[in-house]
Amino acid sequence: MRWSQMFAPTLRDAPNDAVAPSHRLLVRGGFMRQLHAGHYSMLPLGWRVHQKVAAIVREEIDGLGGQEFLLPTMHPASIWKESGRWDTMGEIMFRLEDRKGAETALGITHEEIFATVAAELTSYKQLPQIWYHIQTKFRDEARPKSGLLRVREFHMKDSYSFDIDDAGLDKAFDAHDEAYRRIFQRLGVPAFGVQASSGAMGGNSSIEFMTPSDAGEDDVIRCPKCDYSANIEKATSALSAIDDGEPTALETFDTPGVRTIAALETFEGGAAATHQLKTLVMVLDGTTTLVVVRGDHQLNTQKLADATGAIEIRPAEVEETVAALGAHPGSLGAVGVTDHPVIVDLALEGRVNMTTGANIDDKHHRGVSVERDLTVAQWADLREVAAGEACANCGTELTVVRCIEIGHIFKLGTKYAETFGVRVSDADGNVVPVVMGSYGIGIGRNMAAAVEAHHDDKGIVWPVSIAPYEVVVTVMRLDDETLAAGNDIYVALKDAGVDALIDDRDARAGVKFADAELIGFPFRITVGPKGLANGEVEVTDRATGETNAVPLTDVVGMLAERCNEARRG
Ligand SMILES: [Zn+2]
Repeated sequence: MRWSQMFAPTLRDAPNDAVAPSHRLLVRGGFMRQLHAGHYSMLPLGWRVHQKVAAIVREEIDGLGGQEFLLPTMHPASIWKESGRWDTMGEIMFRLEDRKGAETALGITHEEIFATVAAELTSYKQLPQIWYHIQTKFRDEARPKSGLLRVREFHMKDSYSFDIDDAGLDKAFDAHDEAYRRIFQRLGVPAFGVQASSGAMGGNSSIEFMTPSDAGEDDVIRCPKCDYSANIEKATSALSAIDDGEPTALETFDTPGVRTIAALETFEGGAAATHQLKTLVMVLDGTTTLVVVRGDHQLNTQKLADATGAIEIRPAEVEETVAALGAHPGSLGAVGVTDHPVIVDLALEGRVNMTTGANIDDKHHRGVSVERDLTVAQWADLREVAAGEACANCGTELTVVRCIEIGHIFKLGTKYAETFGVRVSDADGNVVPVVMGSYGIGIGRNMAAAVEAHHDDKGIVWPVSIAPYEVVVTVMRLDDETLAAGNDIYVALKDAGVDALIDDRDARAGVKFADAELIGFPFRITVGPKGLANGEVEVTDRATGETNAVPLTDVVGMLAERCNEARRG
């Protein structure tokens, strides 16, 4: 490519709303432009990177025996209704009607759709199968932001495995786990796997792949000593034992003006937060529900969703709370409540002599034995683990790391197979449902994650494997001799298999260098009259900033070798 012909509109400034480095640099570097919130036009440089990321993903999934499909992105509502996800997907799913009034959805994922195709499998002899496509997905995000990190339209590679039994699924799952690790390594994205909530996927086991970044939206609990790491939506920790003494009788006492856990801690006759019950009034799919955690603990709503299967969860309004319990927030409790389900966090099992609101303004109960005095509908792990708590495996203090989710793999089991009739005959002639897994990786998200991991104050520092061009040949002066020398190097690089670009623009050297650094080409060859007089050019490594004079005769071979090596990872 000749830069003089290339459409690469670099900008001095990033858009005002761009905070994440990948957002700022991909716009400034002329990789992409926002059409409207959450939808980006990929310009030629951006699309080159995108395709290179997709090619690496495709190679690794093909390496597992994956077969590539392309399934539609517009789906009939009936398929989503059959699986039950027409309702459970909630507002995140784009829905529309065609001219006949038929309801359709824009695909957010393709379990259902792949299952309709898999229904043609008939025998265990056809298994295992790994099927995938790289297709556009849509998510109606409430607040799209951070460039490619949270969008409403994106490309994802999603693969699906079909096996005769759980052992087969385990194999397919582990193979994807390994392939994903190789993918991230080749993309230059530092990654680790964590236990995750399966959320609306309805699976029974899943691993999320995370890369640490302040631009992320996920908190991951990690143990610095052992291997434990989990999404905060799933993480657990060990709590120190608490001595409650012997159970005493339930007693009500006056607490004028006491409205918070903290206020009750300092109130005379009150209790430490660890000895209080925090009662939250939540509305779960329309049902007013009391959720009880220890006074110093926080509720994690995803845990509540996972434990109850509820789709829409929100705190009750004050009026709803008063109507349900007869008191205002600050005086609430679950003692004696039988009209509403009471869900209690596991950390409260066996606790006695607790203090809690009495559902009368300005009154609390003390001497509460949780199991004796509360009508518990469900026990569940609901509390959010905090930094500094002890690792359940080894006791070390846990840390919280902000991360970007860059991949997610699920064991689905037979849920979709049962719904869509994906059944085969097994070796004994019995007809059994196929066991499925599903495995997703966002292409644009990983492109952004690579930028998050590889940039400096001058711009992007692309890994060779996904750089829009591996080498830019910067011609310093457009006289015939210098241009011809630059062109010879450019052509020889291409002949040697290097993805090269020649900067033949009529522009100042400073502009050419700044653009090359902003866009982030891994290597720059600077061709100028002075060097040529000595039979030399300069080679600059973008990552280290090092510049070296290299004989004209060596430069192509040297860069071909370095690019080849880097491409292999
Ligand atoms: Zn540990």
